[in-house]
Amino acid sequence: MSDIENTPEQVKFADFGLAPEIERALTDQGYVHPTPIQAKAIPILLQGRDVMGAAQTGTGKTASFSLPIIQLLLAHANTSMSPARHPVRALVLAPTRELAVQVAENVAAYCKHTPLRSTVVFGGMDMKPQTEKLRSGVEIVIATPGRLLDHVEQKNISLGQVQMLVMDEADRMLDMGFLPDLQRIINLLPKKRQNLMFSATFSPEIKKLASSFLTDPITIEVARSNATAEKVTQVVYKVNEDHKRDAVAHILRQREMKQVIVFSNTKIGASRLARGLVTEGMKAAAIHGDKTQQERMQALEAFKKGEIDVLVATDVAARGLDISDLPCVINFDLPYNAEDYVHRIGRTGRAGASGDAISIYSDKDERLLADIEKLIKQTVPRGTLEGFVPGGFRSDERHGDRRRDRTQSDRAPRSGERREGRGDGPAFPPRREKVDPWFLKPYEPTRGNAAPAAAAPAAPAKPKQKIAALLGGLPKG
Ligand code: AMP
Repeated sequence: MSDIENTPEQVKFADFGLAPEIERALTDQGYVHPTPIQAKAIPILLQGRDVMGAAQTGTGKTASFSLPIIQLLLAHANTSMSPARHPVRALVLAPTRELAVQVAENVAAYCKHTPLRSTVVFGGMDMKPQTEKLRSGVEIVIATPGRLLDHVEQKNISLGQVQMLVMDEADRMLDMGFLPDLQRIINLLPKKRQNLMFSATFSPEIKKLASSFLTDPITIEVARSNATAEKVTQVVYKVNEDHKRDAVAHILRQREMKQVIVFSNTKIGASRLARGLVTEGMKAAAIHGDKTQQERMQALEAFKKGEIDVLVATDVAARGLDISDLPCVINFDLPYNAEDYVHRIGRTGRAGASGDAISIYSDKDERLLADIEKLIKQTVPRGTLEGFVPGGFRSDERHGDRRRDRTQSDRAPRSGERREGRGDGPAFPPRREKVDPWFLKPYEPTRGNAAPAAAAPAAPAKPKQKIAALLGGLPKG
């Protein structure tokens, strides 16, 4: 374990002795104090030690590994035009394209004042632009494992000079069946290198993977949700089931909210709500598994740029999304799994910022709320929607939606099904969104590329999340 005693408030980035180019980038980002994971990990990584970090997205873990990588690679930084002078020296592996893109954006921001080059490669996209970038020489590569192997096989990238390896969200990579790909990649790397592994949970499988490639690692644990729980203000509003959309619109309007994620349990529900909000004159879009990759990228980009105020998302679509400074999340539906509630509210109050988590529920959701409160060991305050007059949504929109819904392949659960799912009987199968191919696909070989790793499981196993970790208590060791 790290023996750093300082609280993050006492530590400043300036204390780490980072290069002025990096400090400038941090100032650009507006960061002054490191988060706990950064305060612990950065000095250890700068010493060249291997680290096993128990930290989730939202703790500031990306900078905790990116900054030392950039600092250590600065010794090799040069402005030569020759690709040979820019070999891949640091490799960051991430389970999803979303996460890979976010990490890459962070890395690019942190090294923008240095000559170091970085790029991201992930599946489901044309390989050509990625190939050009790789071939022109790049020191830091962020990649999803499958696409990286595609590039290796096509000789677009050589991993023979990698001196730093990061496995980000290692638990998810294992859950998604990436282990064979990870092993293949590790075998391509030089034996002598610095290794970092980040995982939200420390299952026996994770420990096994860690012991197979980390050398004498220092373990760093960060209880993210302590900070989150203190900073996130939770409230639930009870309304008639038919008035939930009105209630969301009312809250958004009344508070003039910008940059809000609204969670829906179903894809149809997300689409309908987003459409309804647009009809109400709001800038909203839905992001879920039935949207094309381009539509999702566009919605996410527009949201990040502030062109869209409200992103209505399903849990699967939202997984891995890191949108900074999110002031509020709204649960249009309470999640069927209480665990998802913790994930959802963790979208706000990140890295020490404060946030609001607002939930709408109706009579039949009482049991879901009880499950959530049991899990988080708190009673969520009941609020009253001041000035709420139901009926804002145009009724023709509702009926129109229902007619359209039936024509879609992933129709909304009909009323009977809902009752079955939420009733009092013992059977309570959570209705999860089908695994989304865009967000969760493991190795996705390029067409015509018959790589053996293509045999990765088609349907990833359900992630085994440990709620103790999410709530701040992590098993030691
Ligand atoms: P991460 O856990 O790496 O996904 O980071 C979560 C969010 O916190 C990102 O939006 C970062 O930009 C932000 N962040 C990271 N480090 C800091 C910091 N030291 N101060 C303020 N915000 C930060």
